[in-house]
Amino acid sequence: MTDVFNSEKRSQVMSAVRSKGNKSTELALISIFKLNKISGWRRNIDLVGKPDFVFQKHRITVFVDGCYWHGHNCRIRKPGHNNEYWEEKILHNKQRDAFVTKELRKNGWKVIRIWECEIRKRKYARKLNRILSLLNH
Ligand SMILES: [Zn+2]
Repeated sequence: MTDVFNSEKRSQVMSAVRSKGNKSTELALISIFKLNKISGWRRNIDLVGKPDFVFQKHRITVFVDGCYWHGHNCRIRKPGHNNEYWEEKILHNKQRDAFVTKELRKNGWKVIRIWECEIRKRKYARKLNRILSLLNH
């Protein structure tokens, strides 16, 4: 497949897509937390993998993973975007995610990963309940 972007342009496009996609789902999760009276989280904590939300006292980390960039097997990953370069990036991200999860767990952190599509489709109840039950212990 021909790629219309040179690599510099492509990485600009990629980071734009990534930050935009992630920001809106992170904001959505913040309102979900508020609606469910979940507080005590902080952002930008210096931990491996830079979790999106950290509950330090309860040692819980929460990631909001964009379906495309983190390789979720769902409808958001449209065919047609699949050129080799992007597939390789996504594979790399998936391996990195697995590594990060393992490292955090090894250090006693609970790791909860919420997919972008779970937030969009409001299918996050199970994971939210897990956070709630961890916070109540
Ligand atoms: Zn998904």
